[in-house]
Amino acid sequence: LTRLHRFFVPPSQISEGFVRITGPDARQIRTVLRMRKGESIEAIDGTGICYRAEICDVSGTCITAVVCEVWRPNTEPRVHLTLAQGLPKGDKFALVVQKGTELGVSEFVGVLAARSVRRPDDSGLRLARLGRIAKEAAEQCGRAKIPLVWAARSVSEVLERVKDYDLAVVAWEGESARLLSQVVRERAAASRALLFVGPEGGFAQEEVEAARCAGAELVSLGSRILRTETAAIAASAIMLNELEGHL
Ligand code: SAH
Repeated sequence: LTRLHRFFVPPSQISEGFVRITGPDARQIRTVLRMRKGESIEAIDGTGICYRAEICDVSGTCITAVVCEVWRPNTEPRVHLTLAQGLPKGDKFALVVQKGTELGVSEFVGVLAARSVRRPDDSGLRLARLGRIAKEAAEQCGRAKIPLVWAARSVSEVLERVKDYDLAVVAWEGESARLLSQVVRERAAASRALLFVGPEGGFAQEEVEAARCAGAELVSLGSRILRTETAAIAASAIMLNELEGHL
């Protein structure tokens, strides 16, 4: 069974049995995929509802498809995982957003840690691009919702949110006694979890202390030092696997 091309479409563009696709997705359908009348697509409204729809008009700037089937995919994790990533160099955050989306992360926050090398450019362009990466990854892997990607926050701003979570952990290479998997297993009922991963240079000692004071647990990912992007992806996988029973 070949799977259909999947697109997130705002709920406002799905009504009275029709799906209307505009913008870059419409261009993609018309000029890249060269789809025609009679071919089917999958539209996901981002609130958890999925539609199979048959294209009935490709002539205008808006592509119209008629709804044939409606269902609720169960691809969203039960646990809401927020990944707070110390802003890494270059394009690594994009990789983390893409892979984290596939694994089931629900929110990404770039954190301006003391040792973050890259300063965020506040043009919003990077943020828009990260949002597109999350959308495309969510479409590709069949998620029912597009994860949120937030503009960079300070460590203290994110630490203020610790109280909104049932479980908050900081991956810290200085911890040796408490493994992430063990900590998460002890807190298997958590439904909102927050994961901190440091930038290339790691978290500063004051940041680790502040996190501990805010109620986050310091955890180890094992005896090897992982690169920041590896740590983020591996730790997300461990947490989701422990809390969901699978990825
Ligand atoms: N400052 C360290 C390496 C930082 S690794 C050094 O230069 O030696 C980047 C981030 O990945 C860390 O801040 C931490 O959040 C995470 N990380 C990497 N390996 C880890 C491990 N074995 N246990 C816990 N966290 C780890």
